[in-house]
Amino acid sequence: MSHQLYPTMEATLLQIPTRRNHRLAAITAAAAIVCAVVAVWPLLTIQGAVMRPFMPMFATSVALSEGLTAFLLWTQYRASGRAYFAAIASAYAFIGVTAAFHLAVYPGVFATENLGPAERQTAIWIWLLWRGGFAVLVALSLATRTRPPIANMKRRTQYGLLTIGGSVTLSVALCEAAIIGRHRLPGLVENAGSYRHLSPGWATLAVAGICVTALGVHLAVTKLRTLMDLWLAVALFAGLADVALTLGAGARYSLGWYAARIASMVSASALLGMLMYETSRTYSKLADAHRALKEFSVHDGLTGVFNRAYFDERYPQEMVRAAASAHPLAILLVDVDHFKAYNDAFGHLAGDECLRRIAQTLNQGLIRPEHFVARYGGEEFVVVLPACDTFTGIATAERLRKSVADMAMAGPAPQMSCVTVSIGHASATSGAGVPPAILLANADAALYRAKTMGRNRVEDGATAQSSETSGTVHCSVN
Ligand code: GH3
Ligand code: MG
Ligand code: MG
Repeated sequence: MSHQLYPTMEATLLQIPTRRNHRLAAITAAAAIVCAVVAVWPLLTIQGAVMRPFMPMFATSVALSEGLTAFLLWTQYRASGRAYFAAIASAYAFIGVTAAFHLAVYPGVFATENLGPAERQTAIWIWLLWRGGFAVLVALSLATRTRPPIANMKRRTQYGLLTIGGSVTLSVALCEAAIIGRHRLPGLVENAGSYRHLSPGWATLAVAGICVTALGVHLAVTKLRTLMDLWLAVALFAGLADVALTLGAGARYSLGWYAARIASMVSASALLGMLMYETSRTYSKLADAHRALKEFSVHDGLTGVFNRAYFDERYPQEMVRAAASAHPLAILLVDVDHFKAYNDAFGHLAGDECLRRIAQTLNQGLIRPEHFVARYGGEEFVVVLPACDTFTGIATAERLRKSVADMAMAGPAPQMSCVTVSIGHASATSGAGVPPAILLANADAALYRAKTMGRNRVEDGATAQSSETSGTVHCSVN
């Protein structure tokens, strides 16, 4: 079986090695982020319009993207058993939950705007957890990168659930801690709604440092070998842009703040976009592979005509169709004469070549698209002729017999001077009420008669009358 027949399918989407066009797309995305940051930098502190619905829309879309990414990574983990995918899925699950908490405590969304200073900064603490937590988890995941796949399905599920469950629990615990312990946490903002004091704060600088370090470690360890490495790097880079823009922005709803939220959306959807694109590509590859496989599975490897399995499936269908439409159907059983002697005289390889040529000649001798040849077994072929009456069936059989003899392939002396075939014909006039096996048995009986009556001839199973073939024979058969 040739491997060339099927389009190559990667074990998982995430392990697809990066090619030039992948790297180009990722570099373009990173360059667009840099350009956007540079372009917006002088305008960061300009106060924009206060669009109240923006925050719920942004947070919902980000949490959804992150949740979907976690789910798709989980499916890739289930397919491959690679601990690394479970670890990255858990990083996305972590930030999906953190994003939901962020929205829940954000002033003016569910929580009222008139909060005290401690309450007002809870959203910022959770944002720091979101950005820092993702970077830390992605970097820590690298430790599982070279682990061999988990083969045992039960263990695979347990490990995956434990990893993702652990990160969700961690996210809930940290966010709850930030909310419950808000009065004990160091101050991050001085006046309501401002981020100005974030920039020199140790916590914010630590998160910025964590993001830079995580990106550096990710680049150094992965060398961006696979598609996931590449788009995870884009996600980390966009996350870093979010941190930089947020730190530089003056206040909530400033231009810098809006730009940071957009960077955050890019970070959340980078891997998701790649996964969706590659999933749709995989579907079309799968369809191609299925088509190639189906095509391969119905053809005979030696002769190229349809195989016995195809005949067994299609022939009864054609009989049913013939009965339903009250059309006749003819069937021919074709057997190569003295083929054992041919093999003995010329060798098995020459025998194979002879079978190939006979099969192609039979195939080329058919005129209508619904007619087909299949290899019935060994040196026997079967020809199915839907919508073909007895007269046309016998005429077709005679044409095929003659076309094989006309090839004038040297036959095994002394039995025959050239290669010939004997053909048994049978037809069902209206198709109704004739079981497929009976028609086949009629054709077989006719073939047997053709053999006993001297070979290189056509016999009709239904009428049991020999067609006039002997006079047209160019080859002598003994
Ligand atoms: P008859 O005219 O009565 O049909 O005689 P025959 O020799 O053709 O019939 P028989 O059934 O005695 O022998 C069939 C031969 O076909 C024997 C077998 O080795 C040969 N054969 C079957 N399949 C293949 C194949 O795939 N390649 C080759 N080279 N020979 C095959
Ligand atoms: Mg035979
Ligand atoms: Mg034979």
